[in-house]
Amino acid sequence: MSLVTKTAAQLTQAMAVGDTSAVEVTQAHLDRIAATDERLGAWLEMTAEQALADAEAIDTSRAAGESVGPLAGIPVAIKDLMCLTGVATTAGSKILEGFRPPYDATVVSKVKQAGGIILGKTNMDEFAMGSSTENSAWGDTHNPWDLGRIPGGSSGGSAAAVAGFHSPLSLGTDTGGSIRQPASVTGTVGIKPTYGRASRYGLIAFASSLDQAGTFGRTVHDAAVGLQAICGHDPLDSTSIPEPMTSYTEGLDAGVEGLRVGIVTEWMGTGGGAEADPGVMTAVRHAIDRLAALGAEIVEVTLPHASYGLPAYYLIAPSEASANLSRYDGVRYGLRVDGATTHEMMAATRAAGFGAEVKRRIMIGTYALSAGYFDAYYGQAQKVRTLIIRDFAAAFDQADVLVGPTCPTVAFPLGDKTADPLAMYLNDIYAVPASLAGMPAMSLPVGFDDGAPEAEGRDGLPVGLQLIGPLLGEPVMLQTAAALEADLDLDLTPRGANALEAPTA
Ligand code: GLN
Repeated sequence: MSLVTKTAAQLTQAMAVGDTSAVEVTQAHLDRIAATDERLGAWLEMTAEQALADAEAIDTSRAAGESVGPLAGIPVAIKDLMCLTGVATTAGSKILEGFRPPYDATVVSKVKQAGGIILGKTNMDEFAMGSSTENSAWGDTHNPWDLGRIPGGSSGGSAAAVAGFHSPLSLGTDTGGSIRQPASVTGTVGIKPTYGRASRYGLIAFASSLDQAGTFGRTVHDAAVGLQAICGHDPLDSTSIPEPMTSYTEGLDAGVEGLRVGIVTEWMGTGGGAEADPGVMTAVRHAIDRLAALGAEIVEVTLPHASYGLPAYYLIAPSEASANLSRYDGVRYGLRVDGATTHEMMAATRAAGFGAEVKRRIMIGTYALSAGYFDAYYGQAQKVRTLIIRDFAAAFDQADVLVGPTCPTVAFPLGDKTADPLAMYLNDIYAVPASLAGMPAMSLPVGFDDGAPEAEGRDGLPVGLQLIGPLLGEPVMLQTAAALEADLDLDLTPRGANALEAPTA
C-alpha cells in the first residue's frame, strides 16, 4: 500500500517499527501534491523544505531513542487563516497579500510540539465566509470525488487535501459549519470541538463568539488524535475553557450499547423543518438504523428554535465580522492602495482588497449594529441564540448524543450557487445551531447518494452524518462515530469518471 493512502495511525505504527521514516512519509505526500494539486487546487503555499527538515529531526530523535510526540512524522495541512511564523497567511484574501505573521497560532504550535509535519497552507473562502471555497481570492479548490464539484467551505482546501491523499490530517476552522460541511461533501471526518476547547489565539478572526479550530482525517481515530493535540486551555485566548483535557481516543471502541441517540425531528422531515435531499436522507436513515442495530436507544428530540438558527447566524456572524475586519485599513497589514488622503487610501484599499461576499457581510453587519437597528437585528438574534442554547440543553436531558444530516445535499457543481448568496447559506442550515450554542459537532461519512451504502459498483457522492455532543462531550460523540464507522466500513477512496486519480501503489 502506498504511503499516502495510509491513515495517520498506520503511519505512526509503521514509523515506530522502522518500516518507514518521517522523511519518506513527508516526501511521499509532497510528491502526491506535486503530481495532482494542479487539478485539485487544495494548497496556497507549500513549506516543503521546512517539512523535510522537521521530518529529519523527528527521525533523528527517534533513532536516538528519544520519546516523540503523538503526531510525530505525520503530515498536517494548515488552513490559511492560521498564523504560521514567516509563511504567507492570507485567509484567502487579497487584502492580506504579503502578510507573514511573526508568530504561530496556538493550534499550530501545538501541532509542532506534537511532532506533526506542516506541509503548507490550504485554500479557503475569503475570511472563512462561504461554503464552497469559491470565495477565495486565489482560485477554486475542487472536490476529489468529482473535479467539477465544490469541496465545500470554507475549509475546502483542508478537506480536499485529506480526501485526495495529500495529507492524512488537516486543520480547519468552523464558525457555522466550515469543517462539517466540507467533511460531509468530501467523504472525510471533520470535527469541531466545544467552543473554547481549542485556542483562537493566532487565528484570523471572522466571528469571535463562534470561531473554533478543529481537524479533518480519513478516520475518526485520526481526526480525534489530531484534535487531542490541538485542544486544551490557552491563557492567550480569554474564551479558552480552563477545564483539563479528557482523552479523545481511550473510549473510542466502547460501542453504543445503551447510549441514547437523539434524532432531531426538525432535521428528519418529520418536525416541520426542511428535509435534505432524498439521497442524503437514505444514507442518514440507514446510519440511524445501524446505530439501533448496534444497541443504541434511538429517541426523538426536538430543537424548536433551530430553524431560526440560520437568520440569527447571518446577523451575529456578519456583525462580529464587520468589527473584526475593520483592522484591514491599509496601514497595519498586507495590501495598500494609495489615495490622496488617509481616508481615501483606506477606502481604496478595502475596495480593492475585499471580495464581494466579504463586502456583503461587512455591510450587513454594520447595518445590524447601527444605533437605530441594533435591538431589532443584533439584539433580536442574540435572544434567538439563547433560545437555541436552551433547546440543546433540553435535548441533552433526553439524549447522550444527537444525530442528523450534516448538509441538505451532496457536493454540487462549481458555479451552481455563486449567483445566489441565500442558496449558498442554506448549506449550513443544519450546522449553525450547534455553532450558536457552542456544542461539539462533527461530520462522519455514512454512505453515498446513489442508494444503499453497501451497494457494489456505486459511483455516488459521499454523504455525511452530523453528530452533536453535549458541551465538552467530545468523547461520547467520537465514541458513537467510531462505532458507526467500524460497522459501515466504507471505502472512502474518491472514484468515478471525474474523480482525482487514486494514488499508485
Ligand atoms: N458557510 C458559513 C458562512 O459562510 C460558515 C462559514 C464558517 O463556518 N466559517 O458563514
